[in-house]
Amino acid sequence: MLNTIEINNIYKRYGTTNALNGINLSIQSGQIYGVLGPNGSGKTTLLKIIAGILPASSGDVSVNGISVRENPDAIKSITGYIPETPALYESLTPVEYFNFLASVFKIDEHALRDRINAFANALEIGKYLDEFIGSLSFGTKQKVAIIGSLIHDPQVIVMDEGMNGLDPKSSKIIKELLKDITARGKTVIFSTHIMEIAETVCDTISILYNGNIAGTGNLAQLKEEAGSSNNDLEGIFLKLTGDEDLDNLLDSLRDSIK
Ligand code: ADP
Repeated sequence: MLNTIEINNIYKRYGTTNALNGINLSIQSGQIYGVLGPNGSGKTTLLKIIAGILPASSGDVSVNGISVRENPDAIKSITGYIPETPALYESLTPVEYFNFLASVFKIDEHALRDRINAFANALEIGKYLDEFIGSLSFGTKQKVAIIGSLIHDPQVIVMDEGMNGLDPKSSKIIKELLKDITARGKTVIFSTHIMEIAETVCDTISILYNGNIAGTGNLAQLKEEAGSSNNDLEGIFLKLTGDEDLDNLLDSLRDSIK
């Protein structure tokens, strides 16, 4: 199978902070790939580098053979990026925002109208299409951001905690949408703190810890890698990220608040 995304020896430093320490991953097309890790482990940094938004300090990422370092604009044209906190033009309406994106990505007017209608119906935001984005709830803004990132029919969708703020029905719809997208050979990479989402949605998971890969694989492979007797992803995650001794931590916390 064609490897969509090759991540080769990526390092990222912010001043004296080493955020990523030589990440190597091979992400095949047609799958949902989860990036998990504690706060500060480097998830956002890695996703931004993959999406061509942030330059690596060294190393490179290639998407369908195109180098992010050499051609970040080409990567952006085939990638949809959904940030953790949607950064949208508050004084535009969703329709105006989608029209703006359509002009950037040169999307045909009929295709645009069809896509807006289909997504707006699926995510139940039809009645907000002509409201100012600034007046919408966080969850509705998140849906607008998701639709905006999919409007140019990207090959690769990168979501940073992209299901935060969604109600259960919308989250379910997005999960099904992502499965449909990958069934058509596209690739979804997303970070999440929610183990249930990672467990039920991802074909492959990489666990980041302190800017390094602590484990990669499907659940069975991760379990083996962690040498874990625990069957669920949370137990594997805690084992790989060194936090398995939670009971002691919780005991001392309980002692201190008695
Ligand atoms: P995560 O998404 O897993 O929480 P991040 O990629 O946001 O992790 O951060 C990884 C490390 O890099 C953290 O130590 C964080 O404080 C640091 N970092 C992230 N962005 C910046 C920045 N713009 N300037 C300085 N340090 C940063």
